Amino acid sequence: MASLIETIKAKIDVVDEVGLVVALRKSGKSFQGLCPFHNERTPSFYVFPESQTWRCFGCHEGGDIFTFVEKQQGMDFREALLYLAEKAGISVEEYSSPNPEQERETNALKERLRKLNEDAVLWFHQMLLRSKEAADARAYLQSRGISSESVIAFSLGYAPDHWDALSSYLLGQGYTEQELDTGGLARPREMAKVGASTMGGEQSGGVYDYFRGRIIFPIRDMRGRVIGFGGRALGEGQPKYLNSPQTVLFEKNSVLYALDMARDAIKLAKQVIIVEGYVDAVIAHQYGTKQTVACIGSAITEKHIQQLKKLTKQVTLALDPDAAGVAATEHGIQEALKAFDRTVVPVPVVANNRWAASKGYQRHEPRGLIRLEEQVDAEINVLQLPAGEDPDEVIQRDHSAWVYAVAHPLPLMDYYFVARTAGLNLREPAGKAEAAKRLLPVIGTISDRVKRDAYLRKLATMISIEERSLYDELQRVLRGQKSNGVIAEFSDRARQQRPIGGVKSPGEMSLHEEQPGVGSGSASSNGSGEAEEEEAIRSSRANDRREQESRTFGLDKRIKDRIKWEDYLIGLLLQNPGLWPHVCGIINDGDFAGTDTRELYHIFNSVHQRDSSPLFQSFEQFVPPALLETVARARRNVESRSPLDGAGLVKAAVQCATRLKRARLIQSNTELQYLMRGATEAGDGAVKQQLQRQLLDIHRQLRTIDSAMHLQG
Ligand SMILES: [Zn+2]
Repeated sequence: MASLIETIKAKIDVVDEVGLVVALRKSGKSFQGLCPFHNERTPSFYVFPESQTWRCFGCHEGGDIFTFVEKQQGMDFREALLYLAEKAGISVEEYSSPNPEQERETNALKERLRKLNEDAVLWFHQMLLRSKEAADARAYLQSRGISSESVIAFSLGYAPDHWDALSSYLLGQGYTEQELDTGGLARPREMAKVGASTMGGEQSGGVYDYFRGRIIFPIRDMRGRVIGFGGRALGEGQPKYLNSPQTVLFEKNSVLYALDMARDAIKLAKQVIIVEGYVDAVIAHQYGTKQTVACIGSAITEKHIQQLKKLTKQVTLALDPDAAGVAATEHGIQEALKAFDRTVVPVPVVANNRWAASKGYQRHEPRGLIRLEEQVDAEINVLQLPAGEDPDEVIQRDHSAWVYAVAHPLPLMDYYFVARTAGLNLREPAGKAEAAKRLLPVIGTISDRVKRDAYLRKLATMISIEERSLYDELQRVLRGQKSNGVIAEFSDRARQQRPIGGVKSPGEMSLHEEQPGVGSGSASSNGSGEAEEEEAIRSSRANDRREQESRTFGLDKRIKDRIKWEDYLIGLLLQNPGLWPHVCGIINDGDFAGTDTRELYHIFNSVHQRDSSPLFQSFEQFVPPALLETVARARRNVESRSPLDGAGLVKAAVQCATRLKRARLIQSNTELQYLMRGATEAGDGAVKQQLQRQLLDIHRQLRTIDSAMHLQG
């Protein structure tokens, strides 16, 4: 049976899907358009129907139909799978569930509860707009500055202070007491006394309304479907805020209020602002800051951030500036840091004299020695509000101050400087020492040396201590910190000298594990750069011809080979998670040709980054059912080969990763050559020049890879 992914890909053409949001123009065998992921005037975004892939040569994004949907709609893989399957007319649950019958029932239940919720929203809303007893509720909303347009846009409602007003209405509409209970809108009378849940069995004692005497804020999912409600008590009712109980639709710790209304604005503003309350969110939207969502429940969780991270990489926390808010902010930062992916970035290793280097006398090792460091792929910052004022008050009292704060949030590090030194007497030696003790470890987490040194200077000035002694202290802190860094030897310039046993600084050695032999630029030790590049283009044209021939005869075989290597690498990683540091610097998600293997590598990365020694026997628990077959296939691939020892495993993994990287570069090369011919024919000099630059870059990377492969033997 074809996999779900293959079935979807066979049914939906990537050109059609992309064409929904990008105006595509046919150009030869590909389609061209303006990239939806970065701002551009001349198109550098291409869709290739033959391989069912797309690529932007401006911002270097690319992938298949799944990657496009994930990126463009801000979905994760599971959501993209559901979305595309629905389009292709396939039910994912029924396709991949061991018990399709039960899945169908659950789906039917969810559908029924959504309808129930919609009916309840209408009823609550009518109550607020028309009923006499909602006068206090209307007055309250007005006192908080909520306009009637907002009341309608957010479908705000009112639950009267009766035992069964909503219930009798809904029962009259044909819903059962059981459904009202399961949907979280009513509680059974008898069962309430013993406090038990009643998911099954008949009830006889009747039901009473869950929300009474409250203003109702309907909560929708990203697709705008009502999944639950928040109710604010009028007057002194307790609790002040009451949210729907956990239901099949409403998962308490992951729901964000107003996400459906904020989604497009978040993508546009490239920022999400998280506030604490419903009213804060409504007022923010009302005054034009539509990239605002409210976190429901007490604290920001990783699950909240997971939903946001596909929409933006900038998370701005705007929690109430009281003591609880400060604690919530620190907690929110930690959860956000956990949720975002890490990117492995190459950081040039500088010469021994780090103090001199930090003063601006930077000198790179002659060999282009590079350390790979993990960086959180996000910008998390904090919105500074005047003391004692909640966001909705600031927005209405001083709108321009709010707009300024939104555009200039406090970077995380600056926030730490404020929050972690609050209450310390920085003129006293004890206060100074404490400030250094609290801030040096966070300063140590900054990978960017220039930034790190700037904050070190800031701390030195703040506590009037000589920068030099703080620098030494920072080195001690850094040495003590656990690091995932890996040293790899890359030659970033092909014309660099042949390696002659360069020496690493002792500090680097103690901090980072060394990775042997991931290439150094030995291939091109002589000749001027330009002549070399010419030569590279000539040889790659020859390559290109060979590529074309092989494509005619063996496109399928080439792709199949690549998938086999991807299976092998995934299998190796699952069996030996310790191999991860050896491959993560060589390849990333985008280098995988298979949708399933790419997603598995992505999952592997996020699991691994969260827990440095995960138990991969249970890796399957993180994998969507649709990908389980691929996991089994990858494991089989490794098991079918003869077992390897430790060194053999590392070598195999590095070789495999290098091979995949190379295949990916060759593919880019082929695509670029092809586009180049088009530009030549069209006589488009500017585009040609741009493509030429990209080609040179690809060739440089290919040379590095080839010499690395040569070294690996
Ligand atoms: Zn782009």
